[in-house]
Amino acid sequence: MPELPEVETICNAFKKSVTNPVIKEFKIINPKLRWKINNKIPSILKGKRINNISRRAKYIIMDFDDGSIILHLGMTGILRKTSTFPEIFKHDHFMLKLEDDATYIYNDVRKFGSLHWVYDKSKHFLIKNLGVEPLSRLFSKKYLYEKLKNKKTQVKNLIMNQNIVVGIGNIYASEALYDSKIRPNRISSTITISECENLVKSIKKVLSRSIKFGGTSIKDYKTLDGKSGYFKQKLMVYGLEKCQCGEVLIIVKISGRSSFYCAKCQK
Ligand SMILES: [Zn+2]
Repeated sequence: MPELPEVETICNAFKKSVTNPVIKEFKIINPKLRWKINNKIPSILKGKRINNISRRAKYIIMDFDDGSIILHLGMTGILRKTSTFPEIFKHDHFMLKLEDDATYIYNDVRKFGSLHWVYDKSKHFLIKNLGVEPLSRLFSKKYLYEKLKNKKTQVKNLIMNQNIVVGIGNIYASEALYDSKIRPNRISSTITISECENLVKSIKKVLSRSIKFGGTSIKDYKTLDGKSGYFKQKLMVYGLEKCQCGEVLIIVKISGRSSFYCAKCQK
């Protein structure tokens, strides 16, 4: 599943590749995604200019004068740039053609992605309750400490809670906890302010490094040019057997998801 760094990479690639941001045509190929694509979107978008393309959590947002498109890549969503008269493949869901004939097609094998048109994105149900961006200044040790200090939940669950901080999935949560030497199953209220500071730094470090390398790809993730952004070898604990210190890693299930940690390096 694309996580924040992958979405950031795709979003940046998409933004960079757009030279004429006026929409010539939007075509629904197969409306069946997590939510059915609104059949009014083609007429709404025709002739509109994309003012900005940005990422919020794991959503790619296209802003127009009077509204926004919110795109989520789900588990297997891929946006590919293609030729003027593109070949349509199985699992293609929509096509976006710009004034200069640059054409983008969204493909999603497992159909967990979504596309919404909204007049006010800040009020949309997918956006309105989202927590802070992990790479922003709002995500600070003070902020995290306030969220952690009275909670009985395990710390890994807390940092993966999208209402607190967005875009930290299973892989990056495991990696950041390893980097900050904190066990994933620690009770949140036992985390000290200095551990909090380290955890915030580690989250920012792990995500930034991943964005720099073009996103981690476990499966199904492709950048806009179809190249895989794979850098699994950079991971320190997720999916591995041994820690760098030589210790065999422990795997625990937290909320049904595998969490890896080193009993020697993480307290
Ligand atoms: Zn270790």
